[in-house]
Amino acid sequence: TLAAPGQVGAIGSAHAAEAVALSSADLIPLPFDGGGDAMRVGPHAQIFEDTRGDLTFSQLRSATTGWRAAPLDTFNFGVSKSVWWVRASVRNITAAPLRMVVDLGTPNMDYVDAYVVAADGQVRQQVHTGDRLPFSTRGIHDRTLAFAYTLNGHETVDVYLRVATHDGLFELMPLRVFGTKGFVEHTHDENLLISLFHGGLIVLVLYNLFLFVSTREKNFGLYVVYLVVFLINSFAFRGFDMEHLWPDSPRLHNIVVGVSASLIFASGGAFTMAYLHLRRNARPWVWQVAAALIVANLCGALLGLFDFYTLAAGFAAIFGLALVLFLYVTAAVLAMRDVREARFVVMAFTALICSAVLYYLQLLDVLPATRVSFWAMLAGSWIELMVLGFGLADAMNTLKTQKLQAERAARENQEAMALRLEKRVVERTLELAEANRQLSAMSITDELTGAYNRRHFDQQCAQRLAHRGRGEPIALCIFDIDLFKQYNDRYGHVAGDAVLRRFSHAVLAVLHPEGHALFRLGGEEFAALFTTATEAEADALAHRLRDTVNALAIPHADSPRGIVTASFGVAWWGGEALDDLTPEVLYAAADRLLYEAKRGGRDRVVMHRQAAVNQG
Ligand code: GH3
Ligand code: MG
Ligand code: MG
Repeated sequence: TLAAPGQVGAIGSAHAAEAVALSSADLIPLPFDGGGDAMRVGPHAQIFEDTRGDLTFSQLRSATTGWRAAPLDTFNFGVSKSVWWVRASVRNITAAPLRMVVDLGTPNMDYVDAYVVAADGQVRQQVHTGDRLPFSTRGIHDRTLAFAYTLNGHETVDVYLRVATHDGLFELMPLRVFGTKGFVEHTHDENLLISLFHGGLIVLVLYNLFLFVSTREKNFGLYVVYLVVFLINSFAFRGFDMEHLWPDSPRLHNIVVGVSASLIFASGGAFTMAYLHLRRNARPWVWQVAAALIVANLCGALLGLFDFYTLAAGFAAIFGLALVLFLYVTAAVLAMRDVREARFVVMAFTALICSAVLYYLQLLDVLPATRVSFWAMLAGSWIELMVLGFGLADAMNTLKTQKLQAERAARENQEAMALRLEKRVVERTLELAEANRQLSAMSITDELTGAYNRRHFDQQCAQRLAHRGRGEPIALCIFDIDLFKQYNDRYGHVAGDAVLRRFSHAVLAVLHPEGHALFRLGGEEFAALFTTATEAEADALAHRLRDTVNALAIPHADSPRGIVTASFGVAWWGGEALDDLTPEVLYAAADRLLYEAKRGGRDRVVMHRQAAVNQG
């Protein structure tokens, strides 16, 4: 009726399984030859639960019932108030004395009592240690709990372990028997790997700390905190703190492990939330749930601080896992919405979750705790941290690029605005200049005829006289439409206006190409300033004007010639006489000559007294 070892299955179900009584005679000794390979004790061991925890070793040895088969590989007593006993038999299958090392494979079992019983029933060795006792109690000064015993040639011994907890939580115990050579190799291997991992973490911490100091970017700070907590937890959980830092402070070791476990989740969660910009990228309740889970983890850390180790571990297990899964799903949703940072979180957390699954598979005895799985777990953590670090650098780079783009856009915008403004100023200036030009043109132009007005005539007269070169001749021609009052009376004022317009256009057509200006002095009286070299030229020009008016042949029934005519007075100055010339004198002379032309019968040009009669 013997159950083969392992058929009883994992411990979780062992409680429910019917107890199969096993005796020490049923123990199959581990065949020990001192070789390099580790021997798993589980398949050869029996376990015994002392629910009241008060059995002494001798009482236990006399117990005939209660022993059952052990799990295949890793002992996992979970959360239990009981004391657990483990026993296994080891035989030296060589003739030579061999030293064996029994390694619990964990630094965190609270209380361990070990007894080596020889074939004669005598207890040959006792060890009383655990991580609740000072480091000096350990059989071997190693970060894990281990002790050594020397077997004589062909000797068989029974090894009894009594394991108990401080407040209920049993650590996983992958119990192994090594030869000394194998133990040294195994320890060196594991310590090398873990130290590489820790060294890498320290580099990450320093690097990101420098980045934080130089950029003052909050996320680098949070990442550094996360890394430091991770490093402290890994260092303490793996027993290095007792070995190297505080060998006589087992309570401190337990507090550090308990606090840092919860803080890993709290700080990692805070970092991930900030990194994902959860407040901005997700609905408020998402942020609130994550924040609440972080607070729960902080409570766990507080429990750890007061050495409620099991409660702290429970908080970390429940709320830590909940936080990781919640952030994982959130990141996955955000990643589908193309939030770049979320992809890094998904990658990192996938690695983390893979490593956690690996851990739980060992816990459930589905996978053996091998060197490969140990490697894989470290690698998972490492990948998670590295990917987050890389994501952080990527986010910084994105931020920098965005900032540069924004700066460039702002600069371009500014330049464009300055350009637009400049263009507008130029346009406005041109418009203003044009308006000014029109205004000043209006101020000197007669509206009806388009000729310059009286004001401009006065200015031009004064200016011409003031700026004339020495001896440069000047001529003023004043002309007036004949009998225009009668025209208005007969044909009406509107027709009169039309005549004024036709008259001035025709005259302008003669004057303008020659570079001479036409002025309307008032009513139907006009003036032109000539700069002809000779008197004769001025006279000829005046005659051309008279001919032009006649050529219009505007009917005027009350005029002697039957058409609209005009009279011209032309005053010409040249040589010495110019010196004393003033606008008034010039005007008076021309006006007098015009008067003479009127008196002489109209429709004529009078240049000088002697040329008074000058009919065309
Ligand atoms: P004379 O041959 O002596 O110059 O005789 P006149 O009738 O032309 O001269 P007078 O100075 O007596 O009359 C000028 C007339 O010109 C008076 C007015 O009816 C007319 N007149 C003056 N300004 C305008 C105007 O802007 N439009 C029109 N339709 N008629 C005007
Ligand atoms: Mg007139
Ligand atoms: Mg007149």
